[in-house]
Amino acid sequence: MSELSDRFARQARNEALFREVNERIEQLAVSGQPWSVDGSIEFMCECGVDGGCGERISVPLQVYEHVRAQDDRFVVRPGHETPELEHAIEWTDDYVVVDKVAAAEWIVEDDPRGAASS
Ligand SMILES: [Zn+2]
Repeated sequence: MSELSDRFARQARNEALFREVNERIEQLAVSGQPWSVDGSIEFMCECGVDGGCGERISVPLQVYEHVRAQDDRFVVRPGHETPELEHAIEWTDDYVVVDKVAAAEWIVEDDPRGAASS
């Protein structure tokens, strides 16, 4: 099992929930709803702090798909990273792509789309 505290385990599960929400947002956006011309979609921040910060992040669809291709990657607002759970691998002014630390991967690995991380 993991050495993560309950608090971080809970937060990681919240992040997995927001991932589900964002999957839905993406489906709606792609299925013909008008969305921004530059190809970005307004996703929910996936930081998962205290049930979610409720903030929006503008992420290009291409980048989002890239993030979702791995089940331990998430996208959050700059500054919303939690070092105990994840480390940033890609920064922009609008969003940060984070990769889960090994201790947290088992919590989020049920992503139906994601490939197992190595
Ligand atoms: Zn956040």
